[in-house]
Parts: sequence; C-alpha cells; structure tokens
Amino acid sequence: MKHLIIGGGIAGLHIALQLLDKNENDFLILEKAGYNESKIFSIKDTIKRKDGTTEEVLIELGPSVFHDKQVELMKLIKRLNLQNTFEFVNPKEKAYYVYPGMTSDEAKKKWREIKKRVFEETTNETLEEASKRILNDEDYKLLKTCWGEWYEVKDDNLQVLKKSLKEEGNYIVMKGGLSQIIEKATTLIKDKIQFNNKVIKVSYNKNNYTVYDSHNNLYNCEKIYLCANLKGAREIEFEGINEVNEYLSLGKIKHCLRCYTYFNKPINIPYKFIMGNFIGKYSIKYSDNLWLVAYPDDILALKLYNMRKEWFIKDWIEMVNKNFHLSLTYDDTLNKYCGYWEDAYCTLTPEFYEINSEGILKGEKLRNELNSKNILITSLPKDKGENTAWMEGHLLEI
Ligand SMILES: Cc1cc2nc3c(=O)[nH]c(=O)nc-3n(C[C@H](O)[C@H](O)[C@H](O)COP(=O)(O)OP(=O)(O)OC[C@H]3O[C@@H](n4cnc5c(N)ncnc54)[C@H](O)[C@@H]3O)c2cc1C
Repeated sequence: MKHLIIGGGIAGLHIALQLLDKNENDFLILEKAGYNESKIFSIKDTIKRKDGTTEEVLIELGPSVFHDKQVELMKLIKRLNLQNTFEFVNPKEKAYYVYPGMTSDEAKKKWREIKKRVFEETTNETLEEASKRILNDEDYKLLKTCWGEWYEVKDDNLQVLKKSLKEEGNYIVMKGGLSQIIEKATTLIKDKIQFNNKVIKVSYNKNNYTVYDSHNNLYNCEKIYLCANLKGAREIEFEGINEVNEYLSLGKIKHCLRCYTYFNKPINIPYKFIMGNFIGKYSIKYSDNLWLVAYPDDILALKLYNMRKEWFIKDWIEMVNKNFHLSLTYDDTLNKYCGYWEDAYCTLTPEFYEINSEGILKGEKLRNELNSKNILITSLPKDKGENTAWMEGHLLEI
C-alpha cells in the first residue's frame, strides 16, 4: 500500500479526500473507534416546555464555529458542497463584563487598556508569561477574569496569538450542524476507512513503514499520515524514527468542558456574551432560552468536570439575576447538555519556538525531518500555531 492514514477525524478525512482528488486511490484510514469518534459532535433535540409547546434545537457539543479566512476548511466545505449551510455570526453582538466593584462598561474599558499594553510586547513568551511580567497583580487579575477564553489562549505564544487574532475573518456556524462534514466526507471515502482498528506500533526501516494494529494485522506502506489526536498519537510506539516522539512532545494537551442549558422562559437581555467573575467564566447566548452557561478550558474545565453541574448552573443563575435584576430559579431550567474532553486540543509549547543556529524553529526543523521521511503529522497545530484550538489547525494541504 502507498498511503496509510491513522485517525479518521476531520484531519484524516481531509487528507483522504485530497488523495482521492489526486487519483491516488491506494490508501487506507485506520480508525480506533467503532464509529467516527471525531470531536465534531452535533446533537439535534426536541425540547418540551412546561406549557406543552416544543422547540427544535441544535447543540454543537464539540466545535461550533469557524471563520471564512480558514483556507483549508473552506476548501473542504466547498468540496463537500456544504456552503449553503452557512450562517454568518453578527460581528456587532454585545458582551457584558462581570467584575466586582465595576460596571460592565468600566471593566470592559479597563480590560481593553490592559490587553493593549500586553499586546505591545514583542517578546517570545506565552500570553500568560508576558501578562504576569508586565502587569501588577490587580491588572493581571482583571485581564484574566474578564477574558472569556483566557484558559484557551493563555499558553499561546503571544506573537502568534496577536497575528492570528488580527487575521480572523467572519465567524460562521452551520445550519444542520458541523457533523455533516464528517458524515459527508466518510460517505465519499466509503470502504477506505476501517473502524475498530487501533494502531499500536509504527516501525520505520529503509524508507518503508510497517504499521501494526490491535488485531495483530500488519500493513506495509510508503507514506504515513499521523492524524490521531495528540493523546492517541502518544500512545503509539514508534520504532526507528525518534523524531516523532520528539515532535509530539512539543504539544500541551488541553481540557474542555461545554454545558448548554435550556430555560423554560426566555432570558431577555441584550447581550450575546457574558464573561467575568462567575464559576463558568464565559457564557454565550444561542437563543433567549438556550445558553451555553459554561465555556471553560484547561484547568478550569477540569475543576468544573469534578463539580456537580447544578452548582455552576445555579451560580450562573445567581450572577444573571444580580446583574440584570431577574428572578430565575433552578426550576426554570429544562434540558442540559454537557460534554467534557480530556484532550480537546493542544497548544505548542515554548520549546517549539526555540531557534537553532541556522535561525530555524525547533518544531519546524523536526517537521522538515519528518517530511523527508514521508511522515506527516496533524496531531499538533500546523504552521506556528496560528490556528491553535481551531479545526483549521489540523488541516494540512498535501
Ligand atoms: C469542546 C470543543 C470545542 C471546540 N470548538 C471549536 C470551534 O468552535 N471551532 C473550531 O474550529 N475548532 C474547535 N475545536 C477544535 C476541533 O474540534 C479540533 O481541532 C478538530 O476536531 C481536530 O480534528 P482531528 O481530526 O485532528 O482530531 P479528532 O477529531 O480528535 O480525530 C482524531 C481521530 O484519531 C483517532 N485515533 C486516535 N488514536 C488512534 C490510533 N492509535 N489508531 C487509530 N485511530 C486513532 C480517534 O479515535 C479520532 O477519531 C473544539 C474542540 C472541542 C473538544
């Protein structure tokens, strides 16, 4: 066999479709799960309100949004003929900041000033390191508390983060759910994906690979595409190619928790986003009745995962009542949808950005070496990490 793809999430399917389009039909995807266990996870449900009326809802428990400057994702969606499902997110939606002793407007103004100061930095640190160094304790606390996605981005290289935020396009969600990407792509590659096939070992010898799966099957191939999530990739034994483990060590795995709550009565407040001083830290309105009440990442996601969800939902209700003079109670909640991923995504560690004597980043040098040995790895974010935490970060053009 010529090409072997390990992992059948969006990254592996994207490689497979590119091979098909190049008339390279000699390939196979080995997928560990019994079905497509990609992180893309759309749920359709019918909510029954207390007065007997119903509402159809779409919940994206995994990724929910992308933007129109993400080149490979846009190509993939076009290839799958799914552009007609696009709904653009209104960029003028308002955010409300919750911070003790300040109004929302005061906290927002101060937060922007502090963020601007940190963004003026030109060092090669992470966002967290630069913020801790530049700011006093009080400003650091405000920056961190009022930055909804703080735990998602705090370990990003500050220069790369600044670049990626500047280059963001218009945000898009998909009518009918993002799972359509996985479903359609899987249909197109049909019999070229083998489920329940966990790869356990990859051996490299004289420009050829031997891959072993958990059923003691053996596959010989010329080129490997390692498209497993980072945790899955690290469980594979690599023989004769030490660079793989070295490269995989340049990623930090992050946790993620999402908890949507449907309320029996509409919450009529003119804000799409609420962020700040409450347990869930960041919340997003999908409709007046449906709120993502907790959107934490990293250690905060782990903290909420170990907590009864009633606690942080009640805390959110208390925060909304206090800030918007409402009288919601836990009895006003109906369906809840919660998901937790131990290995939701990964960031590139500071070691990735170490520059060698030839002026090349350590991570990029390793990538080049791996490419010269015919192994392409999508488990870590591509480029310098500009699309970290996005699907696009794992979509490599071949
Ligand atoms: C809660 C959450 C919210 C997110 N929000 C967004 C968002 O709004 N927008 C956005 O763009 N991105 C978002 N992301 C990130 C996005 O989901 C990921 O970047 C993307 O799905 C990664 O795709 P992948 O194919 O690399 O990995 P996966 O989807 O994890 O697929 C990897 C596959 O490899 C398989 N595998 C692992 N080990 C082996 C093995 N040994 N042998 C065979 N198969 C193996 C796994 O079973 C899995 O199917 C979010 C992620 C999460 C968890």
